Amino acid sequence: MTIIHNVYIIVLIIGIFGALIGSFANVVIYRLPAGKNIAFPGSSCPNCGHKIKPWENIPVISWLFLRAKCSSCKTSISFRYPFIEILMAVGFMLLALRWPVEIYGFTVVPLLVIYAMLVIMSLIDFDHLYLPDSLTLPAIFIAIGAAAYYQPDAGLPNLAQAAIGSAIAAGIIALINRLGSLIVRRMADTKERLWPIGMDQVNIAFVFGALGGWIWGLGFALLSVIVNLIARKPIRLAEKYMYLLWFVAIAISATNLIVGPVESLAGTFIAAGIVAIAGSFYWWFHEIFTGIAEDEDFEEPVAMGFGDVKLAAILGAILGWQSMLVALFLAFIIGAVVGVTVKLMGGSRIIPFGPPLVLGALVALFYGSQIINWYLGLLT
Ligand SMILES: [Zn+2]
Repeated sequence: MTIIHNVYIIVLIIGIFGALIGSFANVVIYRLPAGKNIAFPGSSCPNCGHKIKPWENIPVISWLFLRAKCSSCKTSISFRYPFIEILMAVGFMLLALRWPVEIYGFTVVPLLVIYAMLVIMSLIDFDHLYLPDSLTLPAIFIAIGAAAYYQPDAGLPNLAQAAIGSAIAAGIIALINRLGSLIVRRMADTKERLWPIGMDQVNIAFVFGALGGWIWGLGFALLSVIVNLIARKPIRLAEKYMYLLWFVAIAISATNLIVGPVESLAGTFIAAGIVAIAGSFYWWFHEIFTGIAEDEDFEEPVAMGFGDVKLAAILGAILGWQSMLVALFLAFIIGAVVGVTVKLMGGSRIIPFGPPLVLGALVALFYGSQIINWYLGLLT
């Protein structure tokens, strides 16, 4: 048997494995938001409670043989189940074709894990309009850590590029989150009063990162945490004035007084991204240990959820910051097209930003550098 044949056999095996992961993903998407145990008990029909037998649980094939009906009560089974299995299988095969095991070794393995997590997160976001910390935050670690294991010629970021890409991506979405929410609140200040680390620290990182680079941003954010700890209460700095200062800081960078514009922009996003993710981890652990969620006692209109900041941190780590910009651009186009289509068809459903962001990132993962080269070609 030739090498070529072996390549396709491996891709096929990875595809079948993907379909099985898709079958498991169906369970996770349903059970995780409901707070149910993911592993036990086995699946059963939601209508009659009929226990799904192993032969009824073969991805896609069982659904076809059962003609989309429960074998016991004949209730129809949604096309969504085989669709997610196919989605997982196709994604796994495309990744295995782009990064063949024969050439790039185990480079594809963390990509498969992250892809599976992204599909699950997108569907939970689609169903419930939120992204669970128990998926997003571990995935940030996996996505950054994986960069240490990619083959150097795989066209993927190295560890430093992954960490910087992750921070910049989180910072950009955090800025959209803060500015967008400020506009939605008609410039009124946030009701959020998190102590010792919250949105104030993200805002401080934005302002000082823009003024003097990322070390300034991180340093002053840390200083404000210490001030909060000494004061034993959150010291508030009204958001509208903070973002006025942010614009001033960006303007100052044009004069190269402290740092230049490039260092200023990189500094503001890197510092704010790191503080946003660090704060997210703090509040996740806080919820695990105390059972109290960060946002339990306040509810206010937001332009974009903070879950998207964490999702962006995952995507920036696998893409690097350049391809991440391509992903963001694509995500806004996809989101706008879907949003307008839903409106035109008379729907009122809120479209979460997570699924378009993931879709944009997957296109950028495969074609990011081609899109960048094409765009740069247009400019020259
Ligand atoms: Zn049934």
